[in-house]
Amino acid sequence: MLRNDQLDQWDRENFFHPSTHLAEFARGVTPQRIITGGQGCHIEDRDGNRLLDAFAGLYCVNVGYGRTDIADAIAAQAKELAYYHAYVGHGTEASITLAKMVLDRAPDHMSKVYFGLSGSDANETNVKLIWYYNNILGRPEKKKIISRWRGYHGSGLMTGSLTGLELFHKKFDLPLAQVVHTEAPYYFRRPDLDMTEAGFVAHCVSELEALIDREGADTIAAFIGEPVLGTGGIVPPPAGYWAAIQEVLNKHDILLVADEVVTGFGRLGTMFGSEHYGMKPDLITIAKGLTSAYAPLSGSIVSDKMWKVLERGTDENGPIGHGWTYSAHPIGAAAGVANLKLIDELNLVHKAGETGRYLNAAMRDAVGGHAHVGEVRGEGMLCAVEFVKTREGRGFFDASEKVGPRIAGALLSRGVIARAMPQGDILGFAPPFCLTREEADEIVGKTAQAVAEVL
Ligand code: PLP
Repeated sequence: MLRNDQLDQWDRENFFHPSTHLAEFARGVTPQRIITGGQGCHIEDRDGNRLLDAFAGLYCVNVGYGRTDIADAIAAQAKELAYYHAYVGHGTEASITLAKMVLDRAPDHMSKVYFGLSGSDANETNVKLIWYYNNILGRPEKKKIISRWRGYHGSGLMTGSLTGLELFHKKFDLPLAQVVHTEAPYYFRRPDLDMTEAGFVAHCVSELEALIDREGADTIAAFIGEPVLGTGGIVPPPAGYWAAIQEVLNKHDILLVADEVVTGFGRLGTMFGSEHYGMKPDLITIAKGLTSAYAPLSGSIVSDKMWKVLERGTDENGPIGHGWTYSAHPIGAAAGVANLKLIDELNLVHKAGETGRYLNAAMRDAVGGHAHVGEVRGEGMLCAVEFVKTREGRGFFDASEKVGPRIAGALLSRGVIARAMPQGDILGFAPPFCLTREEADEIVGKTAQAVAEVL
């Protein structure tokens, strides 16, 4: 074991941390956090602090930490066959079994699953499949992808462009030209306070129609959206939103990509968010919950409609020129199989819905009336508290006040991890599905204390 001071020094000297203020980290303003273990909903740091992780890592450790059944499946796979590729018809028992398990759980009209490593590469795959599809159909102009402001779809060149958060564009020369953004279904921040929910849905639809008109429907290939906006602030859509959007897309022959990296495999209390909102996607992006982050693995689930065209394309053009060395990595696949079995055995999808409802209701009761809480919102095991300077008019705090991060800090000092979302003063919660009611009460109670301390 390395000495703490040695670890600290190596960390600052060598490690490029993602999504980090590099200069503040180097200056020691951003603390080093070295995590050593995890069990259930708790993690432990190297100083022996036991923390209740109310964000499940990055909303990914859905079954909770320390599951030896998944660890054993990973070890067994590594010993038997650590790696073989999946190109040109190769597979392993784990990857083939996992593909079957994913399709058994996906909506009926889905046909195949392509495995990748991360949510970002799965969305890159989706865009390539969409372009390929339209090229095979003989409409090479139909290529643009519509995404929403506040959507999060990854950090690559294309996926960073699809992401509708300024931080992920700034100084990276993004978004790329093939991406256009439309209104987020963010009722709390509706442009006119007098708008009803139905009126706001109509507004989102008319914004989308206007964008399609401006660009020309024959240039728009697809629309991508998370069933519930995640990193953009944990924002469930207003009632009727997805049905209304789907109608516009159908009218203009625009494909729908449901990015279910966060919502897939139970977080909303249903296996998929598409099911929860009655969406009929042509592609579904999966990652995090597929393995509960025990190993990196993602996927693009492809509909029958698209699959038929992709097959035809290879008859005309030869093998599809898209593959990662680690596509369907056997260790990730073994983790996925064990994880999905565990979710079934422990009835965790149902439990996520139930405990999530309890958490959301308790949070609303505890902080919803605070003078600086604008809204408590959520769906399933997702919950957010949005802070406002003034309730009337939903006034923002100045960004320099760092209200969200300060409240997250006050909560952390009480032993609970929540996430200050990257845009706005929003505290996000996305606990593992094994959360107990006592743990939910602890999250809520300590959040109320943290809010009272800072505001
Ligand atoms: N899509 C959504 C909805 C996400 O929340 C994320 C990550 O948080 C991604 C895509 C990107 O996944 P990854 O970080 O694994 O590349």
